[in-house]
Amino acid sequence: IPVDSFDLVVFGGTGDLARRKILPGLYRRFVAGQMPEDARIIGAARGDMDDEAFRSLVREAIEEFGGKAAQEAEALGLFLERLHYVAIDAKGESGWSVLADLIRPDVVRAFYFSVAPSLFGDLAERLHHYEIATPESRIVVEKPFGRDLESARALNATLALHFTEHQIYRIDHYLGKETVQNLMAVRFANILFEPLWNARHVDHVQITVAETVGVGGRGAYYDRSGAMRDMVQNHLMQLLCLIAMEAPYRFDPDAVRDEKLKVIHALEPVRPEDIVRGQYRGMGKGTEGSYCADAENPDSRTESYVALKVDIANWRWKGTPFYLRTGKKLRARASEIAIVFKEVPHSIFGEEEGWRENVLSIRLQPNEGMTLSVMIKEPGPGGMRLTEVPLDMSFAEALGENGEDIPDAYERLIMDVIRGNQTLFMRGDEVEAAWAWTDPIIAGWDARGDRPKGYDPGSSGPEDALMLLHRDGRRWREIR
Ligand code: NAD
Repeated sequence: IPVDSFDLVVFGGTGDLARRKILPGLYRRFVAGQMPEDARIIGAARGDMDDEAFRSLVREAIEEFGGKAAQEAEALGLFLERLHYVAIDAKGESGWSVLADLIRPDVVRAFYFSVAPSLFGDLAERLHHYEIATPESRIVVEKPFGRDLESARALNATLALHFTEHQIYRIDHYLGKETVQNLMAVRFANILFEPLWNARHVDHVQITVAETVGVGGRGAYYDRSGAMRDMVQNHLMQLLCLIAMEAPYRFDPDAVRDEKLKVIHALEPVRPEDIVRGQYRGMGKGTEGSYCADAENPDSRTESYVALKVDIANWRWKGTPFYLRTGKKLRARASEIAIVFKEVPHSIFGEEEGWRENVLSIRLQPNEGMTLSVMIKEPGPGGMRLTEVPLDMSFAEALGENGEDIPDAYERLIMDVIRGNQTLFMRGDEVEAAWAWTDPIIAGWDARGDRPKGYDPGSSGPEDALMLLHRDGRRWREIR
């Protein structure tokens, strides 16, 4: 179903994020027939260029990052006609009147701030000053949303000078993933899972976001943040909230976000012994390829890996730990949430070798999908022996070859902006609450002067992270 007509201004339209995600994503929605014929995308960035030059930059970006849809020459030509470019200076006055004249009065106006957060205030102010933004306009902002509570509050306050909360769309692209939304459907559209979804029946939860890449290329930026700020405060926190939250009274933006916020407020402070930080080593004897070399900071104490045990102090979850881990240069690129259920209260089969707990595994990548492992009798005449089989709830294949046609998180979220649906975007108070929980954890290891533990590239992280679960008689799931 096409959305209403719109003018989408992409500030930073020539940048890396715009070229890799935003513009190819919009193109794929265009090919899918979701963009109205007269919708327009206006790139606004530093650097002089005309519409034609911008179109060829976007053509190249789509050819590189647009997937199969990029081969549809006719569609690509039509899409490029929808593009315009305005050279603009966020911090100066050049270009703003041109943009004011170009933008149409009678369509949805959306402004994607794909620029450094230090420019958010300048953009908001000039959009207001040049009367380009209306009370119905939307702005989209990217991570990082602050680096601690204080800076996040300041950013929220800056945006609030010119925009109300219902106009602000804070992107966490994990929320745009098909499986993440499906998690809500599985939880709240079935009677099967919800009665078991609590500390009485769930032994523990594991959330893993493993990457194979290092920080090379953006080392200097990353060295100022680290895994806790870059991944846990936002992405892993959002996943945790969706698993732990109560049923919202309706699938409505504020109802869902109210429930997520309650989870964040219920998080216990994390004890130092429940945190393991790691930093990847180089491959050989020297430091080549090590985190410190990539970050160009020989004495860096920033973590490229973090694992932590998180407790939620409420009736539903007291006693069921959530183990989170994320890191770079690990064995495989894999993101998974695993709900590990408790043992049966008594085994009528005696000491059964093959017995395993039921696990609901929600894979975000690769091969988005869900699997429920259940125990059955091993087929055949060999007597009553148990075996584990997966009940596969994958939908990638149903949607297209290897799931290639599943819309990317960005394209889905941008269309939600145009529709005016904030359900999958973070509210300002959620972001602040997440920082309020994160800040003391980081302050704690800074004050103790903790150094991250080394781990080998291609491994599953530092040894100490294994101990975090062994200590509790549990095991991490394999990263693969
Ligand atoms: P980039 O450096 O590749 O691009 C920056 C863009 O901003 C360019 O188009 C540039 O012309 C424009 N710009 C810079 N100064 C300007 C000014 N004064 N006035 C107008 N335009 C100006 O950056 P990026 O990687 O595309 O990142 C953009 C934002 O998205 C950042 O906040 C970044 O943290 C965030 N982000 C990026 C990624 C990613 O994968 N690249 C992922 C998540 C979040």
